[in-house]
Amino acid sequence: MQFGNPLDADIEYLKGVGPVRAELLKSELGFYKARDLVYDFPARHVDRSSFTKISQVTEEGSYIQIIGQLIHVELLSSGKARRLRGVFKDESGSAEFVWFKNIRTLQQFLQINGTYIAYGRATFFNHKLNIAHPELELLSEEALSAAEQSVRIFPVYRSTEKLNQRGLDGKVRRRIMAQLMEKLQPIHIPEPLPEYLVERMKFYSAYETIRQIHFPDNQEKLLKAEKRLKFEEFFFHQLRILHSQQIRKQIIKGYSFKSIGEHFNGFYKDYLPFDLTGAQKRVLKEIRKDLGLGIQMNRLLQGDVGSGKTIVALLCMLMALDNGFQSCLVAPTEILATQHYIGISELLKDTPVTVGFLSGSIKGKARAAILASLASGELHILIGTHAVLEDPVVFHKLGLAITDEQHRFGVAQRARLWKKSQPYPPHILVMTATPIPRTLAMTLYGDLDISVIDELPPGRQAIQTTYKSEIYRGEVIEFMKKQIAEGRQIYVVYPLIEESEKLDLENLQHGFEKLQVHFPAPDFQISVVHGRMKAADKDWEMKRFVEGTAQIMVATTVIEVGVNVPNASVMVIENSERFGLSQLHQLRGRVGRGASQSYCILMTNFKLTEDARLRLDTMRRTNNGFEIAEVDLEIRGPGALEGTQQSGIPEFKIANLARDGRILQYAREVVLSILDKDPELNLPEHRPLKIAVTKDLKEAEKWSNIS
Ligand code: ADP
Ligand code: MG
Repeated sequence: MQFGNPLDADIEYLKGVGPVRAELLKSELGFYKARDLVYDFPARHVDRSSFTKISQVTEEGSYIQIIGQLIHVELLSSGKARRLRGVFKDESGSAEFVWFKNIRTLQQFLQINGTYIAYGRATFFNHKLNIAHPELELLSEEALSAAEQSVRIFPVYRSTEKLNQRGLDGKVRRRIMAQLMEKLQPIHIPEPLPEYLVERMKFYSAYETIRQIHFPDNQEKLLKAEKRLKFEEFFFHQLRILHSQQIRKQIIKGYSFKSIGEHFNGFYKDYLPFDLTGAQKRVLKEIRKDLGLGIQMNRLLQGDVGSGKTIVALLCMLMALDNGFQSCLVAPTEILATQHYIGISELLKDTPVTVGFLSGSIKGKARAAILASLASGELHILIGTHAVLEDPVVFHKLGLAITDEQHRFGVAQRARLWKKSQPYPPHILVMTATPIPRTLAMTLYGDLDISVIDELPPGRQAIQTTYKSEIYRGEVIEFMKKQIAEGRQIYVVYPLIEESEKLDLENLQHGFEKLQVHFPAPDFQISVVHGRMKAADKDWEMKRFVEGTAQIMVATTVIEVGVNVPNASVMVIENSERFGLSQLHQLRGRVGRGASQSYCILMTNFKLTEDARLRLDTMRRTNNGFEIAEVDLEIRGPGALEGTQQSGIPEFKIANLARDGRILQYAREVVLSILDKDPELNLPEHRPLKIAVTKDLKEAEKWSNIS
């Protein structure tokens, strides 16, 4: 061990580990080398100066750390529900702990009268501090005093139940780490960033950063180390994304749409029904520039519901046509595709541009005719559902493919579009109404460029949003009656969550029956739509509402995507506390599409969790989808956000997409400027960066062989 880098030492030979613990570290955490320990950064730190006294905790929902004795533990059960209750005391007062899970194990290991550091979220129950499932760390007397004397801030590592039980608890882990750190010298930690960057950013050296992240001298130094590590993570992630994007752009050629011609200009001048918003114009310019480069475009167009994406799509398709190319617009449902077809045909009715429609329900001769005119090039624009992607659908010259509501499309489906054109793949424009916070988009859609319509057309009235508990039901019914009397239509939406699907449908049925009492036939018509219905029934019910025969539509969230009934002015959402923020926002977007003032009424339980209240308050406060997405990101973390599931969110060890957006932005700018100056990363000072991206280079080569 004298000569090598101690980081390469097998974990077993580290002081304080040995074969048994090494085996545990391997099986539980996947650690093999000392390096794995060093780069497993603490989940958090305990700052001895920052213990709160129990009597001083006042803020509901805050995360606190207290130190004291666990003086009592008892099992409470009523019927099937069991919980474990603990009483915890410090010199200022007492608090209650409660556990609903792992009760058996806890009973075995909790030590009555043991001194613990407890960490968790404060809630109050009958004015008493209560923490559910606190993180507990048992401190022996000796450890307590030793820790108090030497280290003021010490690391807490993520661990497992098994590790703790087998004697590899936080204390032991810290001791192992302390001994390992003593052996480390600056030369053992190579510098991954270019030196000039470290200097310019006034970062600690890589070595000092590692030291401070494990055993910080003080809070300030800890923060500084964290900041560098976060930057580093984002930096390398962005470097990989942007570098491979750059390479792909060199490799994958595309059609060059050089000219803007008579179709675009003619439509723009004579048939555009309104002035474009500034955002629409900007986005069109971005797209136009892309289409002229001779590189395949892969662009995400984000715009809140109602921001006017369709007209942008149409204008892009006209650009394609001006350059002799066909285009297609694919929507995830038949209803949406039909709406697009009707809307776009109407806009183009006095122009020579030809538009066709294709879905699973177009069969026989009609289908053959569409396919024939598509193959001959007679048909300029094809609008439809996934049916467009099928193999028998052959274009004469497909230059642009647009998909609406991207999160319903998988990568495989996009790949099928690629194959519909030779020699180059068509340009791809992916439209989504799911606003994704910028920081997230930057990391998620490395393979897509992004355009954002961040402005609504003028004259839209903000939807008024309130939330009401059941006691206001009567009031809500009266309000609905008034709106219907004014000729408006109303959505009433029920949640549908798979686990409780049956129960949810009963709810919907029950709600429907109650509504029938207040809104009896024949004066009133109520249509019902849910996912379990046959497609034909569903269409029929939808149609009644779209045509205005039914004044009320009771539905599950199937109406979430894209349906456009401008006369609908009220959205009532039942059990709204059960919906996520972005879903609430999508649902609300079904109203406010016409000229009249629109309303969103969120029906709620009496008792709301804090998260639920935050969601509902956010809905009440703002109509801005991006603002809402930011809050959603805070509450749920990036993995749960709508529209991100299929893309795979990168895992960051220490950086946090919700909180560290500014660092991410900065890291991206630094990467962009490096690639601008040294695209191939050939400068000697960029050697470590070159090594970091070499793996991706190989991937990219594989890719180019395929396409
Ligand atoms: P989304 O982005 O949700 O797909 P749409 O394209 O359906 O939005 O547009 C919503 C409504 O706004 C449509 O009725 C459309 O005609 C209208 N619209 C779009 N752009 C403008 C504009 N610049 N000025 C006025 N109305 C517009
Ligand atoms: Mg749309």
